[in-house]
Amino acid sequence: MTARHHRRLVLLGGGHAHIEVLRQAARRRFNGGEILVISPSAHSHYTGMIPGFVRGSYKEFALTIDVAWLTRAAGGTFQEGCAATVAADGRSVELENGHVLECDLVSADVGSEPSGWRDVPGVADHAFTARPIERAMALVDAIDHAIERARERGTARDAVAIVGGGGGAVEIAFAIRARAEAAAVSFPVTLIEAEARLLPEFEAAMGQTASRVLRKRSIDVLTRARAAAVTAEEVLLADERRVASTITVWLGGAGPVAVTRNSSLPKDANHFWEVTSTLRSTGGAPVWGAGDCIALRDFPWVPKAGVYAVREGPVLAVNLRAAMAGEADRDAATYEPQQSYVSILDTADGRAIMRWKGRVIRGRVPLWLKSYIDSQFVDRYRPSWRRWPRVGSVSMAGRYVTRAD
Ligand SMILES: Cc1cc2nc3c(=O)[nH]c(=O)nc-3n(C[C@H](O)[C@H](O)[C@H](O)COP(=O)(O)OP(=O)(O)OC[C@H]3O[C@@H](n4cnc5c(N)ncnc54)[C@H](O)[C@@H]3O)c2cc1C
Repeated sequence: MTARHHRRLVLLGGGHAHIEVLRQAARRRFNGGEILVISPSAHSHYTGMIPGFVRGSYKEFALTIDVAWLTRAAGGTFQEGCAATVAADGRSVELENGHVLECDLVSADVGSEPSGWRDVPGVADHAFTARPIERAMALVDAIDHAIERARERGTARDAVAIVGGGGGAVEIAFAIRARAEAAAVSFPVTLIEAEARLLPEFEAAMGQTASRVLRKRSIDVLTRARAAAVTAEEVLLADERRVASTITVWLGGAGPVAVTRNSSLPKDANHFWEVTSTLRSTGGAPVWGAGDCIALRDFPWVPKAGVYAVREGPVLAVNLRAAMAGEADRDAATYEPQQSYVSILDTADGRAIMRWKGRVIRGRVPLWLKSYIDSQFVDRYRPSWRRWPRVGSVSMAGRYVTRAD
C-alpha cells in the first residue's frame, strides 16, 4: 500500500472568492493535506461598503471579515505576509520578505490596484485611494481635517478631485460630499473620467441618472479628461488643463498587483493571470485564481468587479477540494459568468440608483436593498455571535445600516 500524498495548498489573499473557499472548507474539511493562507492582513474589508465607511454610515467593523478566524475554522493556518512571485510550475511561492514556501497547489485571489498608481507622477506621493482600508481611513482623516480647517476659517480652501468615473469612484464622490455636508461644510468636488461618459461599465441610462444626481449635488464631472500627474495642490490633465485639488482620490481602472505582474505564469495583455473556465492557469500548472487578478480566457469581456469574484468562489472551492484529494483532472467545475446582475449605487442622500435588466430606478428602497445585501454578505463569513441581530429569520442589517442617512 502506498502512503497518501500530503498536499500543501497555499491560498494567496483573502479576497471575495477565497473567503468562500474557506467557508466551504469550514463546513466540510478538504481531505488530502493542509491549507496555508498568506495575506498582508488578518482582516479583509468588503469594498462594496467602503463608500458607506467614507460617508460615515458604517464603522469599520461592519465591513470587516476576519480571514484568520475563517482559516482556523477551515482547519488551516494563517500567515501574515505578501507574496512577491509564484513559480511557473506552481511548486513554490516567494514572499516579499524573501522567504520561499514550498507547496503543491496555489490559488491567488489577490485583487488589483488602481491602474496608474505606480507610474503616473505624483500619485503614490499625493493621492488617496479606497483600498486597503488603511488608505480609506487616511482619506477620511484628510476630509475631516479639511472640514475642521473650513470651520476655523469660515470658508473652505480645500478641493477634492476623484480620478476615475466607475461605480466605486462615483459612490466615493457622493460619500465625500455627504460627509462634508453633514458637518455643514461644502468644498468643490470634481470627478475626472478619461472616457467619453461616466460609468462606462454600465448602460447609458445608469450614467445619465448618475450625472443628473451629481449635478444636483454640485459635483463637477469632467469627461475625456486623462489625469497625467498629481501634486499636493492639483491634478494635471494630459491636455494641460489643471484641476485644483488638495485631496485627490485615485480610483482609475483595475491594474495588476505586483505578484500578478511578476510571476511567470501565462497572462493576458494587461498582465492578469490567464485561466480556463475551471479557474486553473491556462499553462496547466497546479495554480488557480479568481477575482480581479485573473483574466478568463474564454470570457475576456468580464469586468473587474466583486460580483464576479463572489460567483467564482464556489467553483474554485469545488476544484481546489478535488485537487487536494488528487482528483484535479476529474470533472472539474466550470464557471460561466453571469450576463446581468443587480447594480446599486449609493448616492449618500438616503437613496440609491439601481439597475436591473436594463431598468434604472432611484429611491430609498434600492439603498435599503443594497445595505441589506452588503451586510448579509459580510455576515455569511462571520461567527454567529458577530452577526447582525435578527428578528426570527430576518436580519436587521438594513434597518441599522441606513440609520446615518
Ligand atoms: C470604492 C470601491 C467600491 C466598489 N464597489 C463595488 C461594488 O459595489 N460591486 C462590485 O461588484 N465591485 C465593486 N468594486 C470592485 C471590487 O472591489 C473588486 O472587483 C473586488 O474587490 C475584487 O475582489 P477580489 O476577490 O479580486 O480581491 P479583493 O477583495 O481586493 O481582495 C484581495 C486580497 O488579496 C490580498 N493581497 C493583495 N496583494 C497580496 C499579495 N501580494 N499576497 C497576498 N495577499 C495579497 C489583499 O490584502 C486582499 O485580502 C468596488 C471597488 C472600489 C474601489
